[in-house]
Amino acid sequence: MNLQSQEYEQGKRSKMTPEHLFTFRCGPGVSCYTQCCQDVSIVLTPYDVVRMKMALGMSSDTFLEKYTVVIPKKGKLIPLVILKMREDKDKKCPFVTETGCSIYEHRPWPCRMYPLDMDDDGTFRFISDALRCKGLAEKDPWRIGDWLVDQGMVPYDRMNTLFAGITVPLQSQDLDIDNPRIFQMTFMALYNIDKFREFVFRSSFLDRFEVEKERIEKIKRNDEELLRLAFDWIKFGVLGQKLFWIKDKEPGGPTE
Ligand code: SF4
Ligand code: SF4
Repeated sequence: MNLQSQEYEQGKRSKMTPEHLFTFRCGPGVSCYTQCCQDVSIVLTPYDVVRMKMALGMSSDTFLEKYTVVIPKKGKLIPLVILKMREDKDKKCPFVTETGCSIYEHRPWPCRMYPLDMDDDGTFRFISDALRCKGLAEKDPWRIGDWLVDQGMVPYDRMNTLFAGITVPLQSQDLDIDNPRIFQMTFMALYNIDKFREFVFRSSFLDRFEVEKERIEKIKRNDEELLRLAFDWIKFGVLGQKLFWIKDKEPGGPTE
């Protein structure tokens, strides 16, 4: 059995680790090129939105309005944010062109991962096969871990791990929150980073919370740093983690 058929056979199993080998190549030469960029459901994380709106040079407000569908989940604080496909019969992604993805350097996590997906336990499985995704019939050998690095996954994994620090504890809870403001503020902090920046700098946020000067300088300009602050703020406000210090309540000490 050659490497390709051997690993493809292995790849049919789920629970692959980063050490697992597979064969794959995608690019303009494959006959199915860009076919996976239509009629597909792509769930966006907060970091995906930051990167995509950066690629497009637009505000997060405009990006959310123009390119996403937000679907509330009953009893859950955080909705699903889905990339909106074009509304014609092909339902193509708004960013696909004949020559590929127009935001390739900033494409979202699921597009980097395809044709693999990662399960909650951190193992990998194929979500396509060599009949539909011809790249899986190519002979270029990859170790999954190396392939993920090649796909630019490192910053995505870093930020999505921080996001999971919110979503995983919330998964098991049906929240009894009836104040719509909490839903709005959570969504703004996670997904509408430009509005969250306005909130931090134009409300009493910095008068109420201790934030180091160095961090304040970083979040003025850096969306990734600001998103880290947003994650901390949600963990503080919703999960009760002592990541913020209130200035006037207990100077020098954590808030209850
Ligand atoms: S964002 Fe890019 S890679 Fe992802 S579906 Fe759209 S065109 Fe394809
Ligand atoms: S289906 Fe597979 S080989 Fe074809 S364009 Fe998509 S990822 Fe590439």
